[in-house]
Amino acid sequence: MEFLRTRRDLPIYPWRNNQIRIAADDNEVWEIPDPDGHWQRLLQLCDGIQSDVAIVQTMVAAGVSTEDAEGALTQLREAGPVVAFKSPYVESADDERARGKLEHLDALAIQRRLETMRVTVIGAGGGGSHFLMHLAAIGVRHMRIVDYDRVEVSNLNRQWMYDIDHIGYAKVKVASEYISRHVAGSQVQSFNQKLERVADIQSIVRGSDWVFCAADEPPYQMQRLVNYACMAEGIPSVYAFSQRQSGRMMEVIPGVTGCIDCLLATSDDRSPSFRQLVTSLVLNQFQPDTPLISPTLGLMTSWIMKRWVDLVTGPDLARGNAVLRLDFSTLAVAPVSTWIRRPDCVTCGDHGNADHALWQLVPIA
Ligand SMILES: [Zn+2]
Repeated sequence: MEFLRTRRDLPIYPWRNNQIRIAADDNEVWEIPDPDGHWQRLLQLCDGIQSDVAIVQTMVAAGVSTEDAEGALTQLREAGPVVAFKSPYVESADDERARGKLEHLDALAIQRRLETMRVTVIGAGGGGSHFLMHLAAIGVRHMRIVDYDRVEVSNLNRQWMYDIDHIGYAKVKVASEYISRHVAGSQVQSFNQKLERVADIQSIVRGSDWVFCAADEPPYQMQRLVNYACMAEGIPSVYAFSQRQSGRMMEVIPGVTGCIDCLLATSDDRSPSFRQLVTSLVLNQFQPDTPLISPTLGLMTSWIMKRWVDLVTGPDLARGNAVLRLDFSTLAVAPVSTWIRRPDCVTCGDHGNADHALWQLVPIA
């Protein structure tokens, strides 16, 4: 037995020629001939409290055959405007906070999953602070935050979490207070430290369900450190990179996709200039200003977070083995680089490429 409810983000209204119309979005709308008003009655009965069995009985009493009533409910569920619950849907105070997003996230089970998920965000600067705000808003309660920076005036033009009163405070302190204020029942652990060793990262991420790597200094080395720690702990991870005109992201899923070191070795195989680039960045220790402004940072982090929500709630999404690029002007998303899991990988394979010159350039320990 299930309890059915119409999605609350969809308007239902009479339409021309005795039809009933569900929704108004340009790409998601249903128009159903309803000369007898049976569909309208059926949709009204889908209130989350009545069971599917009771709804069918009511429709049969109104003169509809059992087969038609059951068929109509199946169609509504499969098409999407009606969602099913295992028990009667009674809204709690917490669900009131979640209103709106429940419909997007396909009902309560996913909301509960997000609430119990443990997520670590490495870096609380531009990328990390925005990820944390999104995670808080969609209901993730268990978060760990790592950063060693303090809030500076130059952050305020784009890092929405911080304001003038926060100048000089540790970012992790401000961020954990933000989450505590925004998420009922949140549990936040903050680590005000610079990450330089695999062992430190491992002990922080241990027990997490996902890790977001939004720290990019030192270049390549930070991603390698996080990657190694996450692979050792068997935790999937997301990596974000920004450029002036585009944002990039990729996910690494242990046992499923290649890892960061697979990507680096593959990039080195493909392009002779790759190692030169790594060498230059490492040797020059160039610390450029951020290429992002407020809207591009918002676009990039929102895009990445939307993809992550799809990843954790939609089991059919193709994942990993591609660096995805979001063009900030056209909003087109395309893979810019693909790779596969390498059997010889120093981190996720048989260590066959342990002598690769790249690992001397960007060593981790
Ligand atoms: Zn690998």
